[in-house]
Amino acid sequence: MKYKNPYYRKRRNTFPLEVSCGNCKTPVVIYAKGSKGNLIKLQLPRIIASEVNLEENEGNLFCSNCREELARKGTYDNNVTYWIIRGKVNSKRLNNY
Ligand SMILES: [Zn+2]
Repeated sequence: MKYKNPYYRKRRNTFPLEVSCGNCKTPVVIYAKGSKGNLIKLQLPRIIASEVNLEENEGNLFCSNCREELARKGTYDNNVTYWIIRGKVNSKRLNNY
């Protein structure tokens, strides 16, 4: 990944998840996922690294390769959170990152 997320905060009981564009299959985010359920949002403090510079990203989250819109910027628990647009991403569990 191109950028480490400066807002990332380590949390226990999470595992790294590689989130990729459903359109062109390019990995865009490594996310610390907390539970086994479906991925519906990306909370900024849980994003480990990304292909997008999150410090400068003003709006929604787009694929760094094909520019497909993947998630919409919002909030959750007072944190900036990218809400995934249904069906736009694929994710795969990584053993370590
Ligand atoms: Zn793409």
